[in-house]
Amino acid sequence: MHTYSPEFIRAIPKTDLHLHLDGSLRLPTLIDIAKAEQIKLPSYTEDGLRQLVFKDAYASLDEYLKGFGLTCSVMQQREFLERVACELAHDNWNEGVRYIEVRFAPQLHMSDQLSFEDVMIAVDKGLKRARTEINAALPPGEPGFEFGIIVCAMRFCNEHFSRFYKSFFALHKYSSQLEVIRLASLELAKAAVALRDSSDVQVVGFDLAGSEYGYPADDHEESYDYVHKHFMHKSVHAGEAYGPESIFQAITKLHADRIGHGLYLFDSEMVLSRDIADKQKYVRDLANYISDARITIEVCLTSNLQTAPKLKTIADHSLRQMLASKLSLTFCTDNRLVSHTTVSDEIALAVQNFDIPPAVLKDIIVYGFKRSFFYHPYPQRREYVRTAINYYEAVEKKFGVVE
Ligand SMILES: [Zn+2]
Repeated sequence: MHTYSPEFIRAIPKTDLHLHLDGSLRLPTLIDIAKAEQIKLPSYTEDGLRQLVFKDAYASLDEYLKGFGLTCSVMQQREFLERVACELAHDNWNEGVRYIEVRFAPQLHMSDQLSFEDVMIAVDKGLKRARTEINAALPPGEPGFEFGIIVCAMRFCNEHFSRFYKSFFALHKYSSQLEVIRLASLELAKAAVALRDSSDVQVVGFDLAGSEYGYPADDHEESYDYVHKHFMHKSVHAGEAYGPESIFQAITKLHADRIGHGLYLFDSEMVLSRDIADKQKYVRDLANYISDARITIEVCLTSNLQTAPKLKTIADHSLRQMLASKLSLTFCTDNRLVSHTTVSDEIALAVQNFDIPPAVLKDIIVYGFKRSFFYHPYPQRREYVRTAINYYEAVEKKFGVVE
């Protein structure tokens, strides 16, 4: 078993490609804004909120998702969106995370007073402020802080989700709920492309968020088609609740460049289609196809432990098969607050439970940089990745880690 010191894990340049803005607030900030805005919380102390809402373990994905109602309630104004985005960047930088892709559902923050553009500009502004502060003190030769924003459509929503959805549902009262969900998703896809093409807001990708149960991703085919035709990157939460076929669907129908979670990729008993006779072969072929195409899995170990009822211990996680299949993967937090974790914690959890030699660990970390939806043109990305690799190797040398 290869071991790594916490200092080494802290020092290597890292990424977080699967990071929900509304799941990663600082608790003191949540309490602070709630008090100032007279927003109701079940407790106004960190301990109280940890006991009642942001727990170490959750009974179900639905309980896990409950905290998001609270965090979103304090993110309904420009200044608060900017603040939480800026703090998130600093929290990452403080543990050596150099590149983040922050995702969230803008429509949960929109209202008559706050347009899509307002919401996006506020988040972008917070991240840019942090970038300027961080990179001003950057030692030469180190990869600086960089970021992208991924917008999430909601798999499921109703008129209670936000002021935007309340109006949107009211304006489409002759359409079914599913039709409205699809329309809202398509509207977001168009808005994201338009904003990217008309501003310097660093929107780089499209994703689907929310509970997977009962709401398959292919309802959003039209929106994914739209962003795909406009050269925007795509990630899909898949294989978190449904099995391997949902991952196949994400890649083939939704053109996913990356898969969020992919937890059940190898669970042949979750293959449901009657047309697939040999389910084990199907899973092997699928894994091989994903490896071949270098579609990257955004692995979120702690989050999976908290929300997947089938997963009793981390040793049972499909990371084992992912490593054996040489899949392209990257370690992510999902939600720093809700999952009570950091990128360093996720890497530590992985190397403590699975035998990951130095060369493999380096590959995984570097994949985070290589498979990011980098905002700037390709030559700049190459240079950034090169700087990250050089710096990683310098850290290995310093800590005597031999590949
Ligand atoms: Zn997620």
